[in-house]
Amino acid sequence: MGKADSSRGLNRRDFVKTGIAAGISVQALPVLAHSAPAAVPDRWDHSADIIIAGAGTAGLSAAIEALDHGASVILVEENYDCGGHGMVSGGRVNLGGGTSRQRAHGIEDSADAVFEDWLRHEPLVERYADRDLARVYADLSAETFEWMIENGVVFQDEILGADSRNGRTLQWPIYEELITSYPTRHGSGLLRALEKSARAKGAQILLLHKMRDLIQDPDSGRVIGFTALHEGSTLYLRGTRGVILATGGHTSNVNFRRMFDPRLTEEYQVAGEPWSAQTADGEIAAMAIGASLWGTASQTMEAGAWISKTAHIGCQWGYSSLWWQPDSPIFDKARASGLSDVNWQNVILVKQNGRRFHDETGGGHDFFAAALSYSGDPNKKNGGGPIWAIFDADAVARQEWDPTPPNVDPAGYFFSAGSLTELAGKIDNPHQTIAMPGAALEETVARYNSFVDAGVDEDFGKRNPRYKIQTPPFHAAWSTPILHDSLCGLRVDTRCRVMNLRGEPIAGLYAAGESMGGFPQHGLGRCALFGRVAGRDAASA
Ligand SMILES: Cc1cc2nc3c(=O)[nH]c(=O)nc-3n(C[C@H](O)[C@H](O)[C@H](O)COP(=O)(O)OP(=O)(O)OC[C@H]3O[C@@H](n4cnc5c(N)ncnc54)[C@H](O)[C@@H]3O)c2cc1C
Repeated sequence: MGKADSSRGLNRRDFVKTGIAAGISVQALPVLAHSAPAAVPDRWDHSADIIIAGAGTAGLSAAIEALDHGASVILVEENYDCGGHGMVSGGRVNLGGGTSRQRAHGIEDSADAVFEDWLRHEPLVERYADRDLARVYADLSAETFEWMIENGVVFQDEILGADSRNGRTLQWPIYEELITSYPTRHGSGLLRALEKSARAKGAQILLLHKMRDLIQDPDSGRVIGFTALHEGSTLYLRGTRGVILATGGHTSNVNFRRMFDPRLTEEYQVAGEPWSAQTADGEIAAMAIGASLWGTASQTMEAGAWISKTAHIGCQWGYSSLWWQPDSPIFDKARASGLSDVNWQNVILVKQNGRRFHDETGGGHDFFAAALSYSGDPNKKNGGGPIWAIFDADAVARQEWDPTPPNVDPAGYFFSAGSLTELAGKIDNPHQTIAMPGAALEETVARYNSFVDAGVDEDFGKRNPRYKIQTPPFHAAWSTPILHDSLCGLRVDTRCRVMNLRGEPIAGLYAAGESMGGFPQHGLGRCALFGRVAGRDAASA
């Protein structure tokens, strides 16, 4: 609302009062499409030029850029530490366009070449990019790589080669610390450096603070702050020049992710958990004041890094490169490391009804389509339900696994028994909505064993099914697929200003990183780059 009515000498409060007095339904007042769920407080708890929700790759990058442009900055972060997904990421940084590192390795590149990569017909994910945003990415790509170095990121002197999906050259920072005890978590080298730089330049970082609702100026509609929950209290934070949403997308929010794909019910793992969650809080707060989403096709097409097969089985979180070990500072949350290096010839995968659904060695989008299909429970209409790897003592010996804690999680994610019927009866997990019928599991295994004898999988075409499942004890290990990236989010313009449903910028509000839609790249490069764009623009407001 605002300007038109204000110019007639009627501010929003007057308008609402007048409307109600005149018997106009409050719901019908168009002004409410722009009204904030949180009212302007009498007193602000914290104030800065720019306030940022989320201290991951995008939030920290936005903070540094804003500080460099003379703004004061407060970040709120709901976790006990900074870094978000980037902290546990592989750290492969997708930035090119003619970086100093590329030049040192004799690689010719340019902004135009980066842009053209994003316009190629294949692979699919690029085709769905907003071309205005792709141009921004292309133009700032090399600059953002140098900016990382200026802000203390130390890269290995190694080029990892052009990645066909992301199109550009990948580079690894030197890792700083291990959250997962897995030696390739190079992302910590990036995120810790950004955090140190942001703090050194004066950022105030409020940990264990959860952003909730945006606050708008009642007259102009400009976003001027947000509420944050901290230790049971609601705090009011003001951002006089801008508010930046960098809460990292929506992978952890079941309700939100089901907008794009109703199959994505509760049972799916999320890469990056249990370290940090992608809550959709930024998107929800912005949508509550009329923001638009963008590029939603990127989330639903069967391409790109939105889902992956679990690599470590028998634990709740088994993303391939996150191998939780007992010396991890959050192992109490992860609880188990999982059984690794799975040879899918050693197991069959069954749904909660004890039935196979696909060739276990598969992992393409046909595998996921089958995994997310009917679960065997007629009352569970969406989602594929839990998926269990079933194997026997011979498989354990072949794999040299030790199926005991802390390798496996008997609290709902790993079960063993002397017979298949007994095993089926033991499976007890919050997402197992029906008891697995023992007879069905017996039948499935007997049929599979007959395929091993015949050398042909008549049901799903697994090539040379190799090993029978016949020697007790038998085991069931959690193997439900993993959701990875948020590939769509809030609509922004080339300045990262959040747009409303009419395609107009919402004054004072910015988004970057996985909370932002339109540029469905996997990862750190786009999150840092667009974070910088948001921080710079907000600082110059
Ligand atoms: C296992 C793994 C490996 C990866 N490997 C790579 C790789 O090698 N290369 C690559 O380019 N990319 C990789 N990625 C992707 C990359 O890490 C992410 O795309 C990127 O870090 C996302 O940054 P972000 O700032 O948008 O979101 P996030 O990193 O998710 O940060 C969002 C932050 O906001 C916080 N937050 C959420 N809600 C609130 C709230 N309401 N209030 C306050 N704070 C909130 C979260 O706790 C989090 O700290 C990987 C991701 C994972 C999970």
